[in-house]
Amino acid sequence: MTGTIQPHTFRLRDLVGGHIVIDLVNTVTARGAEPIDWLDGYPRLLEWAALTGHFAPADLTALRRLAGSEPDRAELALGRTRELREALHDLLAALIHQDAPAPAEAVDRVENHWKRAVASARLTFRGATPQLQAGVETSGLDYLDHELALQAFDLLRALPLERTRVCLGQRCGWLFIDGSRGGRRRWCSMATCGNSAKGRTHYQRNRAGGTGPGLDNDEAPGL
Ligand SMILES: [Zn+2]
Repeated sequence: MTGTIQPHTFRLRDLVGGHIVIDLVNTVTARGAEPIDWLDGYPRLLEWAALTGHFAPADLTALRRLAGSEPDRAELALGRTRELREALHDLLAALIHQDAPAPAEAVDRVENHWKRAVASARLTFRGATPQLQAGVETSGLDYLDHELALQAFDLLRALPLERTRVCLGQRCGWLFIDGSRGGRRRWCSMATCGNSAKGRTHYQRNRAGGTGPGLDNDEAPGL
């Protein structure tokens, strides 16, 4: 991704990907236009992680403390998460567009993150089901990166490809898994890109008919 890094206060409407890994990919908006990276620091990554509800508050508090005492190492950890995010984006986009074979560089990067995650993770059991569990004690500042890499592997193994899409909204580029009953969702969110597209259609229709100014709101989601 080449683009700008911009501060952003994450809100629930930024988590519309249908999976935490896709929501991570969507911490960059306006892909394909002028990408904006909302992760402007490790504390911001922690804010995003808290909003997802996926991580224990005590773990996030421990990470916040670690990052406070070692800010340079925290920024390096964020850089690794950005790298994982971009590799996942490239891989998922290729799968969605049915590009074959999958881009080797992205696959290698995801593999490397996953291997490091597995090396730090513990094998635990939830009932009779085995699972790999990353933790702050073993992963330190890379805990989020490791957990997301493990989650990415689970997602890729069971990706509902026919329902995984790129939003059609202008200046959006977010990915999402369509969990709607009909399976015909075209936008990351009706509240942002969906309404924007409807507004544009309305505007164009009015212009064609020569009546009224209509609406034209093509803001990127969450901006
Ligand atoms: Zn969108």
